[in-house]
Amino acid sequence: METQQSQTIKFFGDETFPVEMHKVRIVQKLFLRPVEDRLKAINEAGYNTFLLNTKDVFLDMLTDSGTNAMSDNQVSSMLKADDAYAGSQSFYRMEKALQEVFGKKYILPVHQGRAAENVVSQVFIKKGDVIPMNYHFTTTKAHMELNGGKIFEIYTDEALKIKSDNPFKGNIDIDKLNALIEKYGADRVPFIRMEASTNLIGGQPFSIQNMRDVKAVADRHGIMMVLDASLIGENAWFIKQREPEFKNTSIKDILRLMCDFADIVYFSSRKVSSTRGGGICTNDHDLFLKMRDLVPLYEGFLTYGGMSVREIEAMAVGLEETTDETVINQSPSFIEYAVRELDKRNVPVITPAGALGCHIDAMSFLPHVPQQEYPAGALAAALYIISGCRGMERGTISSVRDENGDDILADMELLRLAFPRRVFTLSQTKFLIDRVHWLYKNRKLVGGLKFVEEPAVLRFFMGRLAPVNEWPDKLVAKFKEDFGNSL
Ligand SMILES: *Cc1c(COP(=O)(O)O)cnc(C)c1O
Repeated sequence: METQQSQTIKFFGDETFPVEMHKVRIVQKLFLRPVEDRLKAINEAGYNTFLLNTKDVFLDMLTDSGTNAMSDNQVSSMLKADDAYAGSQSFYRMEKALQEVFGKKYILPVHQGRAAENVVSQVFIKKGDVIPMNYHFTTTKAHMELNGGKIFEIYTDEALKIKSDNPFKGNIDIDKLNALIEKYGADRVPFIRMEASTNLIGGQPFSIQNMRDVKAVADRHGIMMVLDASLIGENAWFIKQREPEFKNTSIKDILRLMCDFADIVYFSSRKVSSTRGGGICTNDHDLFLKMRDLVPLYEGFLTYGGMSVREIEAMAVGLEETTDETVINQSPSFIEYAVRELDKRNVPVITPAGALGCHIDAMSFLPHVPQQEYPAGALAAALYIISGCRGMERGTISSVRDENGDDILADMELLRLAFPRRVFTLSQTKFLIDRVHWLYKNRKLVGGLKFVEEPAVLRFFMGRLAPVNEWPDKLVAKFKEDFGNSL
C-alpha cells in the first residue's frame, strides 16, 4: 500500500479550503425532509438526537464512532478473512499491523474501546485508587468508578477556554500532577491516563513535550502510563502541524514516539481505523499476562476478541492507512474549515479547531437559556429542526445528578458536529455552515428543554425531553418565513 506525505495545496484565488484526496465510488442516498417532518421527528425522538431514525437525518454528524468511510483496500481485505475460532490468519495480520503502527509486541483484541477500559480497570484499579488524566471519556469514567477508582482531571487552565490559540489544550498540568501524587501517595495511583485528542473538550491534542514531562513524573514515582489511543492519528497530525520539533517527522514516527511513552496503549477501532473493534497493546509480558485472562471471559478467544474476522482484516488495513497523512488530515482539515468559517460569522466555536468535530459553545450561543435547561441539548434539537443535520449534546444532559437529585452542571455545554473521516463533501459542509449561521441570527427563538423520562445510568443515550414552551413552533414559523417552502 502506498502511503503519502501531505503537501499543502496553494490557491490562486483568495478562498482556501480542504480538498478531498480520494474519489467517491460507492454512495448512499440521503433525504432532506421538509421542516414540518423534521419537527415531528424530533418530537417523536423526545428532543434527543440519539433517538432519531437516520431516514429522517440529512447530515449525520452525531459521531465519528464506526462511521468513518472505509477505503477500497479495507473493503476488499474483508474477502480474504480466515474464519476460525482460534488461530485465524486474520488475527495474525492484525497483530502484525498493530505491532508495526504502535510498536508494541503483545496484542489483546476486544470488541470495542469500552471493553478495553473494562479489562484495564478491572485488572489495575482497586477501591480507593486515584487516576490522574487530562480529561475523562464517558465510558472510561464509568468503568474506573465501577472498580472503586476516582478520576482526577488535571488539565491546564487553557483547556476549558472556548477561544484560545493554545495549540495543546489536551496537555496535563505537571504541577497539578505532582500535587495530586503528593497528596494521595504514589501507591494509590495505579496509572496516569493520557487521552489522545481529548474527546469531551473539543478534540484537543497534547504535545510530545507534555508526554515527556508526564513520563518523567511517572518514572520518578514508578507509576505506569496508559494511553487511550482512540483518536491518536489526529493527535499525531496536530503534533506535526503545531509542535515545531516534529514538523519534518513522519506521522508513522510520531505515532511510535507517542506509544513509546506508554506502558499500555488501548483504543477503539471504531474511531482509529473505521471498523468496529478495539485492542490493548503492551511490551510488558507481566502486564500482558495480567490482562489476558479477562479477554476470553468478556470478549471471546484471544484471536478474535468479540470481533468478526472481516472486521479484523479491515482494522489491520485501516490502521496502516492511519499513518498516511492524506488520510489522517481529512477530518481535521474539514473541521478546521468549518471552525474558521463559523468563527468569521461570529458563531462561538471552540478554537483552535481540534479532532473529531466542530464544537459550538452553547452557553454563549444561547445565553438566555439557563444551564438547568440544557442549552447544548436545545441547540442540537434546534439545529436538527432547521437543517436536518444531527449533532450530539456534550454538556449537562451527558452528566449525572448528585445525591440530592440535582444536576451536576457540566464544565462546558457543547454541541458537537462530528466529521467522520471522508464522509461529507465540501458543499455539504457549506450547507451546514449556512444553516448554523441562520440559527445564530435567530438564536433568541431557541428555548430550553426539560426531562420527561430519565434513565438512571448514561441518561443521554435514552432519555426523553420536551421543550419548556412553544419555542420549536416559533422557530419553524420563522424558518418558513425566511425560506418559504424550500428545504
Ligand atoms: C469512543 C471512545 C472510547 C470508547 O470506545 P467504543 O469503541 O465506543 O467503546 C474510549 N475512549 C475514547 C477517547 C473514545 O473516543
